[in-house]
Amino acid sequence: MEQLVEGRSLDFNICIIWQNQSADDLVEKSTSHDKLFSAIEERTNYGDAKLVELWSILKTLSAEERQEKVRWHRKCYQNTTHSGVLKRARERFDREVEGPDESRRKSSEALQVNTFLSSFE
Ligand SMILES: [Zn+2]
Repeated sequence: MEQLVEGRSLDFNICIIWQNQSADDLVEKSTSHDKLFSAIEERTNYGDAKLVELWSILKTLSAEERQEKVRWHRKCYQNTTHSGVLKRARERFDREVEGPDESRRKSSEALQVNTFLSSFE
């Protein structure tokens, strides 16, 4: 497990999602914040280490700070919130929870129960 450093700062002058210095234009679109933040939060539940760290910082920001500071690349936003990517992350997580045996794949409802139960193991 990676140790997360509390209070690590985020560079708001570059893309907050992957902190990459790409020359692409940065987007600032406050109407997209909720979708972006909920996607990031969802992916932290699947153990995406890079996003866990990002989320630990983002969740401490006030709504005003988010409006003011948060910028991203269109591409990074799309990669993060893309429903297919989220679905794959969820499936990978479910498989890890269930173990490598493919034959144990079940309906999504059963998977949720399994995930819930296995958290007590
Ligand atoms: Zn980016």
